[in-house]
Amino acid sequence: MHRSSFKDRYKREFVEVECPKCRRSRVISLPEEEIPKCEYCRIPMVIKEVLTEGKY
Ligand SMILES: [Zn+2]
Repeated sequence: MHRSSFKDRYKREFVEVECPKCRRSRVISLPEEEIPKCEYCRIPMVIKEVLTEGKY
């Protein structure tokens, strides 16, 4: 969900990213955040699922 409407000028997507190695996952918002690296494995996480609903 998306409570604050600050900087509502572009489409925001929430995606779930997952480490392909240890399977830790977290949710980030694009394009505000970059795809993170796993803090344990130090490898880039991959997009697992796009969570954005509506708002197109
Ligand atoms: Zn990992």
